[in-house]
Amino acid sequence: MAYKISDECISCGACAAQCPVNAISEGESKYNIDPDACIECGACADTCPVGAPAQA
Ligand code: SF4
Ligand code: SF4
Repeated sequence: MAYKISDECISCGACAAQCPVNAISEGESKYNIDPDACIECGACADTCPVGAPAQA
């Protein structure tokens, strides 16, 4: 199951820089993960200061 970013996201961009497959992009109110590109490595969850990315 791909990771998903919750509304807790503060749009800091840290996760996007860590994603090995560039699956994370900036959205209007938060960052988003492309579920088709995510390889479920967990780097975004490890990096996020507010714990926003999680497996759905
Ligand atoms: Fe990218 Fe890994 Fe997070 Fe998926 S789990 S969005 S591959 S950093
Ligand atoms: Fe949002 Fe967390 Fe990614 Fe920062 S690291 S953009 S708070 S999901």
